[in-house]
Amino acid sequence: MAGVRVRFAPSPTGALHIGSVRTALFNWLYARHCGGQFLLRIEDTDKERSTKENTEAIFKILRWLRIDWDEEPVTQSERIDRHREVALELLKSGNAYYCYCTQEELAQKKEITIKAGGSYSYDRKCRDTGMQHRPDTKPVIRLKTQITGTTTVNDMIQGDVTIDHSRLDDLVLLRSDGSPTYMLSVVVDDHDMGITHVIRGDDHLTNTFRQIQIYKACNWRIPQFGHIPLIYGPDGAKLSKRHGAASANDYYSLGYLPSALLNYLVRLGWSHGDDEIISREQAIEWFDLTNVGKSPSRFDMAKLQNLNSHYIRQMANDSLLDYMEPFLGLQLDEDKRGKILRGMNSLKERAKTIVDLANSSKIYTESPVAYASECAKYATSKHLELLRAVCEILGSHSSQITEESLQQDIRDMAAAAGIKLVEIAQALRGALCGRLVSPSVFEIIAIIGWQEATKRIENYIRHFNVTPR
Ligand code: GLU
Repeated sequence: MAGVRVRFAPSPTGALHIGSVRTALFNWLYARHCGGQFLLRIEDTDKERSTKENTEAIFKILRWLRIDWDEEPVTQSERIDRHREVALELLKSGNAYYCYCTQEELAQKKEITIKAGGSYSYDRKCRDTGMQHRPDTKPVIRLKTQITGTTTVNDMIQGDVTIDHSRLDDLVLLRSDGSPTYMLSVVVDDHDMGITHVIRGDDHLTNTFRQIQIYKACNWRIPQFGHIPLIYGPDGAKLSKRHGAASANDYYSLGYLPSALLNYLVRLGWSHGDDEIISREQAIEWFDLTNVGKSPSRFDMAKLQNLNSHYIRQMANDSLLDYMEPFLGLQLDEDKRGKILRGMNSLKERAKTIVDLANSSKIYTESPVAYASECAKYATSKHLELLRAVCEILGSHSSQITEESLQQDIRDMAAAAGIKLVEIAQALRGALCGRLVSPSVFEIIAIIGWQEATKRIENYIRHFNVTPR
């Protein structure tokens, strides 16, 4: 289906919500699947809340996820003249009219209707009065919405949705200060950008019927619509900050890989049989709006974390290191890089996030600055005695240290002392890492070298108040 043109139209009024990222992803996948085009439009007409920084952050997140767009992004605020032009054309063709009702008048009518238990919509007082524009006044321009009949949207996700025109109002196209409304801008931009399919959150479904009225009045081809159900938190409420990370940027900061987030978001509301691990290539090949579910999806952090662990394990070590660098808080020289890379296979087995990985990699680049409380259990005088013996073994290995030979020597030492290897290993772990969970201590020693290991063990002994011999 070449010729497909879809768009992602975020408003840069705050951090990009994870649900919006999924909308972008579904649009992008649809375009790539169909061999069509994926466009961006920055809907920045809310001047007070839209910022350049938010716009930049949107681009950054999309680039991070490798959701690429095909044409120069459209900036909605630069198209105001065009929006205005369309409103005036609608006036000329008799599909719109000047409305002189004042805010006060409308507010009063609204209050009366609501007090009487009704639901308010504009009473079309100015619709057929044929009033011409008077230079001394500041009217709004309203659309002459169809009053009778119905509109059915054959939604690509929701199926047929019908609305009775009696439920629509004569919406404002141009405000009294001459600024176009969101409803008008979206339609004019989608039309001018040649958008064939509008795929967006189902919170826009009611807007769709109002926007279709504008398409009809302009005599423009109506695009196809697909409304994606929203994302809920575990408690069934719309996903928000209250549930923890809700913005896409949070997931970067928490140490998620773009491949994992992408996989997670693809599966959130869309399925391909029982497949859970889906690469970006497979997603492009398989993606279809017919397999997007109609009910809201629940965000499941544990599932995302499992996917993240999976993608961490799959990733080449040097690429992982690139992802880790911003989280390390230090500049890596060749030596440090080399050490982390040597230890990476073991580190990545355990890591759930890049932040975990960066933290745990510190065992290769810095001595512990503190010891976790559980280390004390492995710092009795007996343990410290054993650690001193380990230092001697390390000294004897100084020229060529291998994991295997060291392990053998320490094993022999444990056997000779009549204690379990694990006792020494835990004490060593405490000394080398400052905590009791880490890759094999023999591997750590082989990577950091005997001198550094000896230094850390001596620090440990000193810390627990016994002077090394
Ligand atoms: N700017 C709107 C939003 O961020 C999207 C409008 C649309 O997709 O039509 O919710």
